[in-house]
Amino acid sequence: MPSIAVLGGDGIGPEIIREAVRVLARVRPDVETAEAPVGGAALERGLPPLPDETRRLCARSDAVLFGAVGLPKYDAAPMTQRPEAALFALRSSFELYANLRPVRVFPGLEDASSLRPELVRGLDLVVVRELTGGLYFGARETRVEDGVEIAVDTMIYRAPEIERILRTGFELARTRRKHLTSVDKENVLDTSRLWRRIAVRMAAEYPDVSVQHLLVDNAAMQLVRRPGAFDVIVTENTFGDILSDEAAIVTGSIGTLPSASLGAGGVPGKQFGMYEPIGGTAPDITGKGIANPTAAILSAALLLRHSLDDETNATRIEGAVAAVYASGKRTADVAAGSVSLPTAAFTDAVLAEL
Ligand code: NAD
Repeated sequence: MPSIAVLGGDGIGPEIIREAVRVLARVRPDVETAEAPVGGAALERGLPPLPDETRRLCARSDAVLFGAVGLPKYDAAPMTQRPEAALFALRSSFELYANLRPVRVFPGLEDASSLRPELVRGLDLVVVRELTGGLYFGARETRVEDGVEIAVDTMIYRAPEIERILRTGFELARTRRKHLTSVDKENVLDTSRLWRRIAVRMAAEYPDVSVQHLLVDNAAMQLVRRPGAFDVIVTENTFGDILSDEAAIVTGSIGTLPSASLGAGGVPGKQFGMYEPIGGTAPDITGKGIANPTAAILSAALLLRHSLDDETNATRIEGAVAAVYASGKRTADVAAGSVSLPTAAFTDAVLAEL
């Protein structure tokens, strides 16, 4: 029986993950779920942000469904004592190197975007970001030399790290519109020249996928100029951090966007992964019952697709969410003046479509 670790976390995390679990239970009653504390919820119990028992639960599960972590009261705490430390601990414990962020604008939600509706109508792309290498993990130092403060960060990539994330991108493109945009800065950086060489070499293995290489500055421009031209975008950690937020905000609604972080090992469709909304704990609306559960529900769909090899139910859930939006139902964050539903009522509408 497949098993899922459910880590709601803080703020609206538990409120929206609860809704995702309701949807998951409807389409896959055979899936076992077990909850565990993480982030502020763990700190409040005198435990570390990622308690050992929670880590062990994740290790024996097929996948992790994660809400969000972070509470204002811990903002001044040292990093290891902040709820957010749990995220880095989970990513590194399970070597979750591939971060997938599907960006989709549901019909009817075009006016939530800061771009003109015709630019985002039907938008459906995925950013694949390398998550465990590069600048954020290279050697770093801050020192004083001759009275001058100097800070150094190192961008480092090993060829196998580049190859495996590019493979994730190519394989994903194969299941979609077969267009891959590989983003680098090969006119300046050595890591990018290595990236480009490997991407060009691998393209020969995927003759059915059309490949475009873009410099990161150009990619940032094209994302707001013609977002619809992209299918799968694959890039290294820092570029991906920035581009995936840019791509996300093009939709205008953070509450609708899910993400997957996939680990090493497994085969396509049966990889261990962590699935979470891209938004945070939203302290401003916590406890009001108005958070948008879409990102959490769509994260459950990604979990089915990538960890339980269940494309059928993943597509069913995505279709049900699209149908609810098409019928004009909204939560407050995307209501734009029209009547809005509370969190649970929106999920009821999704369940009614299933
Ligand atoms: P946030 O994403 O929590 O909130 C930004 C805005 O988006 C707020 O107005 C919020 O109400 C709204 N929002 C977010 N999700 C929503 C949803 N599902 N429905 C409706 N509205 C939604 O970002 P922030 O305010 O910068 O951060 C708050 C806390 O969350 C911080 O402690 C931060 O560290 C943490 N955080 C955690 C994660 C994570 O766990 N992956 C990610 C981002 C931020």
